[in-house]
This record gives sequence, C-alpha cells and structure tokens, in this order.
Amino acid sequence: MSYDPQNVFARILRGDIPCQKVYEDTYALAFHDLHPRASVHLLVIPKGAYLSFFDFSTLASPEEVSGFFKAVATVAQQFHLNEKGCRILSNAGLDGGQEVPHFHFHILGGCLLGPYAPLGDPKNS
Ligand code: AMP
Repeated sequence: MSYDPQNVFARILRGDIPCQKVYEDTYALAFHDLHPRASVHLLVIPKGAYLSFFDFSTLASPEEVSGFFKAVATVAQQFHLNEKGCRILSNAGLDGGQEVPHFHFHILGGCLLGPYAPLGDPKNS
C-alpha cells in the first residue's frame, strides 16, 4: 500500500481542512481528535508523508524521529498529562484498526482510562 496524499491528515497538513491545533513545530503537528475517547484526546502527526509506525521507523531520518518523539512529549506535558499519566498509542494496519493512513500517535488522558482495548479474538487470526 502506498501513501495516499488525499488522506484526511495530509489534507490537514496542507491546510485544506481545519483542525483544532494545539502544537506545531518543524517535525510535527498536534490537534484534538474529532471524536474524543477520553477527557483529553490528542493526535500527533509527523509533517512527512509516512503511512504507519513501521513506515516512519524505517524511512524517516534520525532528526525526524527524534523531533517527532520530542513533540509527542511536549504536547503531553502541555496538557500536564505527564503528571497523572496518560496513554500514548499508535494503531497500525488492518489488525491494528488504523483508519487514517498517515502515521499518528493518539495521546489519551485527563481521566482514568481503564483497560486499553477489548482483547482480540485468536479465532480471527
Ligand atoms: P486511527 O484509527 O488510529 O487511524 O485513528 C484516526 C483518528 O482520527 C480517529 O480517532 C478519528 O476520530 C480521528 N479523526 C479523523 N478525522 C479527523 C479530523 N478531521 N480531525 C481530527 N481527528 C480526526
């Protein structure tokens, strides 16, 4: 699967559609998730065109990887989520339930989160 430049996060990066921006730097853009699943639900996306976590890990430069991870930490701290804790995750591919094919981290917090996901059914593997 190749990168689709029409995916919704690519369009947000180009400014074609709006987002509720909370942070931006050279490497990353962060904004509120449209359908929050916690009191605070943020998305952090790299500026580069990377499809998934694996794509990013393999293809991004050391500067992009480092800059992106620092941005994720900065955003979490901006919302004080480093104090009481939070969940940082990336869905990848079909089994991971990734809906938007531009690599992103979810940052969830601001409340007690409980179990992170229903367990998968091994019968479906
Ligand atoms: P994932 O399943 O990991 O690909 O998650 C994609 C996330 O993007 C979902 O939580 C959606 O609610 C969120 N989302 C989709 N479109 C937008 C948008 N235009 N602005 C903000 N969040 C969005």
